[in-house]
Amino acid sequence: MKRFIFLGPPGAGKGTQAVQLSEGAAIAHISTGDILRAAVKAQTPLGMKADDYMSRGDLVPDSLVLNLVKERLAEADAQEGWILDGFPRNAAQAASLDDLLGAIGQTSDCTVNFEVPDDVLVQRLLQRGRKDDTEAVIRHRLGVYREQTAPLIDFYQSRQKLVSIDGNTDVATVASSLRAFIH
Ligand code: ADP
Repeated sequence: MKRFIFLGPPGAGKGTQAVQLSEGAAIAHISTGDILRAAVKAQTPLGMKADDYMSRGDLVPDSLVLNLVKERLAEADAQEGWILDGFPRNAAQAASLDDLLGAIGQTSDCTVNFEVPDDVLVQRLLQRGRKDDTEAVIRHRLGVYREQTAPLIDFYQSRQKLVSIDGNTDVATVASSLRAFIH
């Protein structure tokens, strides 16, 4: 397997695992959050449009995110495989991803769902202390996740392409359960 969608709430550890797996497997790590934060920092047109949404903990408009994923999937390293980390995040993005992959003749091999209880997520994010990691914004992001993103678990499960792993343990243990599933 070489094409993965990482699903899970904010703070579940998707990014940490994605970095390790992408390095080990020499595939692209595509984090929409990282790309958007870099755009905000560089004050590009994309970043200027995304900034307010991100500070509030709302999803950035689908069209903006879709465009950046499309461009990123066209880059050389992504031809070897990829991990989508933080995308898709709602039903419309999932449908658009199907279209996008169809157009380039690819499919995802597997969706990995990271499971972590809410109280643990809040503690982890408060410790991380990013700009959007204040308690109020964290709670809002968890609400957005529950309403808009969590339904994708059933969507990918119905395609029999979903594995759920326990993210409420240390980084090395999560990494080894991940390897066991996706070897
Ligand atoms: P976390 O997993 O901690 O929520 P991310 O880095 O994945 O962090 O996302 C941070 C913010 O970036 C989100 O709250 C949202 O505003 C924006 N974002 C990231 N990915 C998407 C996406 N696929 N669609 C819309 N907005 C996104």
